[in-house]
Amino acid sequence: MAAWSSALPQEFASSETDAFAWVQSERLETTLTVTVTAYCPCPICCGKSDGITSSGTLAKKQQTIAVDPDVIPIGSEVYLEGLGTFIAEDTGGAIKGNRIDIFMEDHNQALLFGIQEIKAYLSKGRV
Ligand SMILES: [Zn+2]
Repeated sequence: MAAWSSALPQEFASSETDAFAWVQSERLETTLTVTVTAYCPCPICCGKSDGITSSGTLAKKQQTIAVDPDVIPIGSEVYLEGLGTFIAEDTGGAIKGNRIDIFMEDHNQALLFGIQEIKAYLSKGRV
């Protein structure tokens, strides 16, 4: 019992190592705490269903996030603690200030994500 529960944090830490490489490098611009929600390419979330972001790219899961470009410039790489590295490719009417919307392929998955406070690491330079 004890061995199993103590193994969990270690696995979590090792899976984060790669993503933290640039976070700990000179590419890190700033960190901020953001309120994160999720969306999918359905008409309920987007008012359309073509999956094209406001920057003209095709939204991809584990890559696309929507941001407020006044806070996070479009094209920025953003590491979200525990979730991985994403690219700011989209915007949204409700995404203002320290808010991030993560693109997911499935509406129910997006709903299940709910609202989470997550530490975000913003990279210098644009993808
Ligand atoms: Zn949706």
